[in-house]
Amino acid sequence: MKLIFEYAPSKANDYIPASGAEGKISVPDFGKEIKLELPELAEVVVARHYAALSRMAFGVDDGAYPLGSCTMKYNPKINEYAASLEGFTDIHPAERAKDLGGAMELMYGLGEALKEITGMDGVTLSPAAGAHGEYTALRIIDAYHRSRGEQRKKILVPDSAHGTNPASAAIAGFEVVNVPSDSDHGVDIEALKRLADSDTAALMLTNPTTLGLFEKNISVIANIVHGAGGLMYYDGANLNAVMGVVRPGDMGFDAVHLNLHKTFSAPHGGGGPGAGPVGVKAFLKDFLPYPVVGRRGEEYVFERPEKSIGKVNAFYGNFSVLIRAYAYILSLGKEGIPLSAKTAVLNANYLKALISAEYPSAPGLCMHEFVASMENLKRETGVTASDIAKAMIDKGIHPPTIYFPLTVHEAMMFEPTETETKETLDYIAGSLKEIYAVALKDPEAFKKFPLTTPVGRPDEVAAAKDMRLTADM
Ligand SMILES: *Cc1c(COP(=O)(O)O)cnc(C)c1O
Repeated sequence: MKLIFEYAPSKANDYIPASGAEGKISVPDFGKEIKLELPELAEVVVARHYAALSRMAFGVDDGAYPLGSCTMKYNPKINEYAASLEGFTDIHPAERAKDLGGAMELMYGLGEALKEITGMDGVTLSPAAGAHGEYTALRIIDAYHRSRGEQRKKILVPDSAHGTNPASAAIAGFEVVNVPSDSDHGVDIEALKRLADSDTAALMLTNPTTLGLFEKNISVIANIVHGAGGLMYYDGANLNAVMGVVRPGDMGFDAVHLNLHKTFSAPHGGGGPGAGPVGVKAFLKDFLPYPVVGRRGEEYVFERPEKSIGKVNAFYGNFSVLIRAYAYILSLGKEGIPLSAKTAVLNANYLKALISAEYPSAPGLCMHEFVASMENLKRETGVTASDIAKAMIDKGIHPPTIYFPLTVHEAMMFEPTETETKETLDYIAGSLKEIYAVALKDPEAFKKFPLTTPVGRPDEVAAAKDMRLTADM
């Protein structure tokens, strides 16, 4: 539908389009004709179009979302209420600290809570994501070594680490040294002894590991790295499994990042705003990026640490995410935080046990997530982890993370989180068993799954290798 209207600035009525007309705009003063191709649609048609599009997406409010490593827990609506309060939404970040009252108190309170939860002495709320937190912490670690007249070039990263760890180390200018795993999927201690030396700036460790297992040799590892003069960095993206139960600061770590958009219940996915605060031990506080929110008597102030690495984000980071996380922490409280972690672990173990015959994972207890391997099924039937994931979509369940970590073949990484009910966990398990039975009986059927989505099997390789980034596709 093309829409044309006469343009005559002297008469207000002439701005009103002639309905359904096809034609041109004439600009009398300039003698020019401009063709406009404006769509003409009824408001209700537009509303329904967008409502229909919104139903094609899948979010945690639509169904179970056991996406391992990502902690897609339900985000309580009270967090949204707090983040939408006018006192927060109507302030400008350039206002003076003394006029920012409640916002300053909130940032200070959140920082104090995160210090207590992690066992650290200083915190920055600036980083905008987990990876950004890693980068910030590595810059702090680098500044610390340099302040002592040392320039250490290597960051040790276990092979089970999240991909952001080596990427952040490389972007921060370090050389990445891969530490192999032992047969228990933990850090290979003998290899670590060989690799840790006077050029080691830090070891980055995720605990629980990406396999959902608690790293048992933490103190041995910390002794080796500290012994070589390196620092211990904790990737706390998986803190959901242990918050309120054990603290990175007590395990021998010097710095940690947290993903507020995972553990502390801010919505995420689709590239939306996140927050990756970094906690550090006292000897690193001087290097934190500014501003740090401090308190002098009854007043909250912005501080600039003496040897600060500078700014890592505009203003104070993603403030609305900080509000949601603080609302979440306050609503859980001191008892609720460990209970939430324990429930996350219980739910993962319950689901693991229900499906272990069909979806085998490492024996024994897991933490908040577990990794099943579909290697046997693939060998027997040709049905892959990806095929199972596609079939889950038709059951109204978001697929788990697949093909990660790379150390497990045909991996399916389940993280149900603490927010799912027993009924939902039973439904996930029942659906997975049904899908498995179909795989044995009719493997050919999997070529067509999913049947219920507008797009089912896009060419994933083309999406990565043949990117079109311009509008004129
Ligand atoms: C999610 C995650 C990250 C990265 O966090 P982003 O906010 O996506 O940058 C890092 N490490 C681990 C273990 C994670 O699960």
